[in-house]
Amino acid sequence: MNQNLPKQTPLERNPLDLNPLLGQFPLPSDLRLPATWAQRLIAAAVEAREQAYAPFSRFRVGAALLTGEPAGGEPQIFVGCNVENASYGATICAERVAGGAAIAAGQRVWSGMAIATRGGAAPCGVCRQFLVEFAPQMEIILVDVDQRTCRCRLLADLLPEYFRGADVLSE
Ligand SMILES: [Zn+2]
Repeated sequence: MNQNLPKQTPLERNPLDLNPLLGQFPLPSDLRLPATWAQRLIAAAVEAREQAYAPFSRFRVGAALLTGEPAGGEPQIFVGCNVENASYGATICAERVAGGAAIAAGQRVWSGMAIATRGGAAPCGVCRQFLVEFAPQMEIILVDVDQRTCRCRLLADLLPEYFRGADVLSE
């Protein structure tokens, strides 16, 4: 065994054990998600951003997706970071990495996502479409890691008149 490896890798750690970051980001007043879950999402997104592979743009993004119902069921958090590629078109965004992980785990009920960037950027158009397939009413928390500020939006408000399954199935 490589003795240089840290005793506890990120994968072995409880993803909700992010205490150093909890409470560091004041929550927006119009937030609908329970504050405890919002804080966990924000902390998870900020931490996931640290894993971003962005040697070309240097723009690192972390995303954390809350699945299940916060008040019931068994909420889980899935994280993603952007993964760039020398073939630029092969790049994938943090939001789709997190969403794909949730789907692969059988979690299709989504209630919130935090996205952490410098400047608190909103998701790209492709990701908006990807996410709206599963959760048009999902709350999106946009986190500015430098200013330590957040704002929230409903996904459907970010993508009005989005393309939906009914449009395809009507053919
Ligand atoms: Zn995107």
